[in-house]
Amino acid sequence: MKFSYKILLSCIITMAAALGIGGYFFVNNVFEASMEREMGQAADENNILQFAFETAALNIPAKYDLLQNSAVKEIGANLEKRGEGTGRLLRLSDENREVLYASEGFVEDTQLLASIEKQTRAYQVIHPDDHYYIQTGAEITALDRTLYLETMRDVTAVYEERTRGFSVYRNLTLLILVVSSVIMFFISTWLTRPIRLLTKATKKMTDGDYSYRAEQVSTDEMGQLTHDFNHMAGVLEENIHELEAEVQAREDFIAAFSHELKTPLTAVIGYADLLRSRKLDEEKHFLSANYIYTEGKRLEAMSLRLLDIIVTKRGVLEPQEMDAEVLFAYLKDMYGEQQKHPFTFRYESGRIYGEVDLLKSILLNLADNACKASEEGKTIEVLGEKRREGYFFAVKDEGVGISEEDCRRITEAFYMVDKSRSRSHNGAGLGLALCSEILKLHGSRLEIRSTLGKGSTFAFVIPYPAEADGGAAESHVRQTEDIR
Ligand code: ADP
Repeated sequence: MKFSYKILLSCIITMAAALGIGGYFFVNNVFEASMEREMGQAADENNILQFAFETAALNIPAKYDLLQNSAVKEIGANLEKRGEGTGRLLRLSDENREVLYASEGFVEDTQLLASIEKQTRAYQVIHPDDHYYIQTGAEITALDRTLYLETMRDVTAVYEERTRGFSVYRNLTLLILVVSSVIMFFISTWLTRPIRLLTKATKKMTDGDYSYRAEQVSTDEMGQLTHDFNHMAGVLEENIHELEAEVQAREDFIAAFSHELKTPLTAVIGYADLLRSRKLDEEKHFLSANYIYTEGKRLEAMSLRLLDIIVTKRGVLEPQEMDAEVLFAYLKDMYGEQQKHPFTFRYESGRIYGEVDLLKSILLNLADNACKASEEGKTIEVLGEKRREGYFFAVKDEGVGISEEDCRRITEAFYMVDKSRSRSHNGAGLGLALCSEILKLHGSRLEIRSTLGKGSTFAFVIPYPAEADGGAAESHVRQTEDIR
């Protein structure tokens, strides 16, 4: 059953129960109040007749010192006659509770008569035919006789009133239920609209439309739920896109890897076949063997790099504290003396928290790339300075530069801007991918600024350890603000 129908049904049941119980108590209350009033009047009537009887008995001539049964009957008949038109009914009985006089239509039942006691008035409601009566009985004493007077008051109208009350209330209840059901239907449909919109959104998302969002139609709890759902959908969508991108990257990686493997292998196989199938002159023999050697070396370098990347990806950092000077001293050793590309080093002393060999590997890769990209004689600058978020490194060259599109993809494994140029330098597009992985381990990332034909700058920041500088922890995710 639909949720809106459940709301509707529970409202109808609650209203029906409330109206039914309320109506029953209301009509019954009115009835009981009327009956109480009628009881009072029945008692008054009985009282008046009692006085009237006693007065009439006193007026009987003195020669009779005893109240005869015939006199009682006469007084009874007189009393009934005087009340003609008011529906007065009375019954008089003697000491033995034997009926002496009874109005026509007075009940024959003597249950009340038998229960009348001294000084008390007895009541009972009787329902002899279609009518309801209050039967009242009391003891009377007249001329030394103890008699019993009973009266009957017709209260049929009160009972009819109650039946009418119930019937009116039932009809009214039905009318209220029908009208309120229609109103409740629209209200419950309106109330459950956010749920329908959410259901629609989940269906759309299940069908693969991750960008679909539920319409928020209120600001209450349901509106909050819709807002939270949309937020969750947004996060999920982002995660799904990330996963898709990761899967795509893996596929690209495998495709590039097989390609990089296939090209040199084809050549190696070709040259090996040439060597084993034909007798070549010495020069050709040397060239073929040399090709097999260099391609084999390239493959070896590539597999080592790949291994480095995989180990770094899975690896856990074992950082230690060092001074930046250690790294610059190493770079100076490697490049300081060479003549092809003059290196300048501008740096300040500063604490670095990281794995020394990995950091050396990054700087070596960047310096190596800068050399490969620069013409002979062009200066390469390596900078180091303390910044608020960590120690800043930059390698600047005046080489060929990189286009904006290449800049975005340059850190992907096997991505080479100029394949033949890279291969001629024994590269396979893995150096910067390795640098990125190492920097990720250090809570940092590589920033690249480049202008085609003018040169490039590769920079990164190694964040300070968290306990030494509260702000440094935050800087793990912060990008380099300024690469000069
Ligand atoms: P490789 O090991 O083949 O050099 P990298 O991942 O180090 O691969 O570099 C990827 C590509 O980025 C290379 O093809 C190279 O042409 C380009 N590149 C890297 N550094 C620079 C630079 N400083 N200037 C211009 N191009 C660069």
